[in-house]
Amino acid sequence: MTDLFEGATGIIDEALTYASVSEDTVERLKHPQSALAVSIPVRMDDGSLRTFRGYRVRYNDARGPAKGGIRFHPDVTIEEVQTLAFWMTIKCAVVDIPYGGGKGGVTVQPKDLSMAELERLSRGFIDGIADAIGPDIDIPAPDVYTNAMIMGWMMDEYAIIKRAKTPAVITGKPLSLGGSLGRDTATADGGFFITQTLAPKILGDASGPRTAAVQGFGNAGMTMAELLHDAGWTVVAVSDSKGGIHAPEGLHIPSVAKVKRESRALRGVYCEGSVCETVDHKVITNEELLALDVDLLVPAALENAITEDNAADVKARMIVELANGPITPEADEALYQRGITVIPDVLANAGGVTVSYFEWVQNRQGYAWTAQQVRDRLQDRMVEQAMGVWERSGGGHNMSLRVTAYALALERIGAAVDATGHKETFQGR
Ligand code: GLU
Repeated sequence: MTDLFEGATGIIDEALTYASVSEDTVERLKHPQSALAVSIPVRMDDGSLRTFRGYRVRYNDARGPAKGGIRFHPDVTIEEVQTLAFWMTIKCAVVDIPYGGGKGGVTVQPKDLSMAELERLSRGFIDGIADAIGPDIDIPAPDVYTNAMIMGWMMDEYAIIKRAKTPAVITGKPLSLGGSLGRDTATADGGFFITQTLAPKILGDASGPRTAAVQGFGNAGMTMAELLHDAGWTVVAVSDSKGGIHAPEGLHIPSVAKVKRESRALRGVYCEGSVCETVDHKVITNEELLALDVDLLVPAALENAITEDNAADVKARMIVELANGPITPEADEALYQRGITVIPDVLANAGGVTVSYFEWVQNRQGYAWTAQQVRDRLQDRMVEQAMGVWERSGGGHNMSLRVTAYALALERIGAAVDATGHKETFQGR
């Protein structure tokens, strides 16, 4: 197994020091329940046939059906999907929603495909994994480089296979197909609610606007930058996979977001159009962004952004992990030793799966909630669970927020595992 999975599950041992959990639970969490690998033959627009590899891992469903997104990315491997499925198991327990964890992925550069090829690939993936998913089994959703339109195709394909409309099989759908209001901004909304709750405790009283840098300008990162900007933060830098822009006095995020939405790349704002005219900025690399002297750093791209090689360069006082796994275990330890508070992914980005849960509930009720209902329920849950972790960790002084979140999750998963009997139940009987 790869370092990513070993690194991810390695924290279980540390969290066990602070949690009372049966041996059975630990044993169950060491291995994925099932890992399905499929080949997806896709007819390309030029008439040729190309085969893509896809995966769906159900890591653990002790607390309910598995839940987790589908990623389309050239670097997808089964080990990565398995690790992401493990994180989903922990994440759903941290915010106390009645799900286990799963994840899917297809190894593909989606930017190289036409829309029609992308649709055939999305439908072909569902054809391959249809027996392994379902509203009471395992419920996919969007992840890196997948979106509402792709979820719509996938839901439609599942309906064709089952000969029944089954909206609750997948979340993050378009509104017109049973999606939930607020799902598209939910990951950032959740991270923002937690940031606003914990920033005064971590950073102390602000004498002026606080500064932030956001690495990754996709759905989560861009929305987070907008929310921070609107709340009076000075967002000094943002970046995407091609590089970043930096302005010490603050970027005008609404303009950057507008250009990004239109051009699909930050490159488009480098020296043309409105942003350059309103804000004097310079081009920086992702590495330079991670090393900026800011109050808040938000990694919102992919795994392994902060490693033992660059952790010492980080100057932020607080990090909110909107991406999954952006900090390696070695870097995490180094940051903790330096007193930098990390709000871990399994808490910080759990707003997405929380509103996915709300979407699934609405689908099963056949009754749509208002945007305000979704927002209020998301805020209540995120703030309550974040405060629970914060207090249990002694404000991050007794143990890191990550270890605390894992301890809490292990206890919740353990309660479900043990409810069907554990070692002591059966010993000597
Ligand atoms: N892909 C998102 C995550 O990593 C959302 C998963 C979901 O909504 O099921 O949390």
